[in-house]
Amino acid sequence: MPSRLLLVASESQKLGAMVSRSPLTRGLVSRYVAGTTLDDAMAVTDQLRRQGLEVSLDLLGESVTDLADAERATQEYIEALPALAERAPGSSVSVKLSQLGVAVDQRACAQNLDKLLVAADEHGVLVEVDMEASSVGKAILETFRAVLPRHQQTRIAMQAAMRQTLPDLQSFQEVKPRIRLVKGAFLESLETAAQDKDEVTARYKWFTTWALENLPDPAFGTHDDACIAHVRSEADRLGIDRRAFEFQMLYGVRRQLQQELAREGYRVRVYLPYGSQWYPYLMRRMAERPANLLLFLRSLIGG
Ligand SMILES: Cc1cc2nc3c(=O)[nH]c(=O)nc-3n(C[C@H](O)[C@H](O)[C@H](O)COP(=O)(O)OP(=O)(O)OC[C@H]3O[C@@H](n4cnc5c(N)ncnc54)[C@H](O)[C@@H]3O)c2cc1C
Repeated sequence: MPSRLLLVASESQKLGAMVSRSPLTRGLVSRYVAGTTLDDAMAVTDQLRRQGLEVSLDLLGESVTDLADAERATQEYIEALPALAERAPGSSVSVKLSQLGVAVDQRACAQNLDKLLVAADEHGVLVEVDMEASSVGKAILETFRAVLPRHQQTRIAMQAAMRQTLPDLQSFQEVKPRIRLVKGAFLESLETAAQDKDEVTARYKWFTTWALENLPDPAFGTHDDACIAHVRSEADRLGIDRRAFEFQMLYGVRRQLQQELAREGYRVRVYLPYGSQWYPYLMRRMAERPANLLLFLRSLIGG
């Protein structure tokens, strides 16, 4: 229940404006967000790489209502590519298609994504498409599908909780997509997505095996020990090399585990957000851990 409350709060613009202005949330924000500028993000990138970790850079922001904002966000991503390519070869950028305008004009969003992909190819940077709420999920998948034949390295996040995920994955025929398997972070109805924690974990494990057997270079975006153990044991059982898939975790979550896995020879990529629009991202992170509700309320009242 606390997590549903926080997910509802993540969609409130009023609360967002209030929380974003509060200096008291700063400590909490810095746990999950690299900073507000590209320079901040690059400094954290350097630290992470020294620990043997790869990075996926996320310019915070979502759901634009204006195509000019979508173009601006695309341009900002493109401007980040040279520094990222130079300082951290092998990195990716993670992008929300709602930020590139998918809910305003799907065709314009596809053009923005294509522009970013062409620029990313030139710099040798990979692009990962985040999955968002089911209200835009179909449009995101269609946009990804349209660019995939020309940009086969592009990765898309797929949510294990969503009932549509298996048919969606099976619908890729000629080019099998690279995916980032996640549990799913958005508020959904029971018809659309499994809600029970154990059921979601069981679904995550099932999709893990399916992805290892059927898809190229899958990424597993999770901090859950049970899910991570399942990835490891299934990869061993199937004779899949540790470097043929990757673990992905969020900046600020289970740092020690990230380093341990890297030391054991697994590829580990840290999802690293930066920018000023951190409110909805932070609230989703708060919702993932019940203890975070208290942390969040304390930071708001300055306790
Ligand atoms: C790299 C990456 C990319 C993602 N991309 C997307 C996406 O595109 N679309 C989408 O819907 N979702 C995305 N998610 C979020 C995902 O859907 C889950 O909401 C999130 O990962 C929590 O699920 P979990 O598998 O870590 O398991 P959980 O059972 O939620 O967590 C397992 C353990 O990890 C720790 N933990 C988890 N979250 C936190 C936190 N916020 N703060 C502190 N500790 C925590 C706790 O110890 C917890 O017990 C992404 C997650 C990752 C790691």
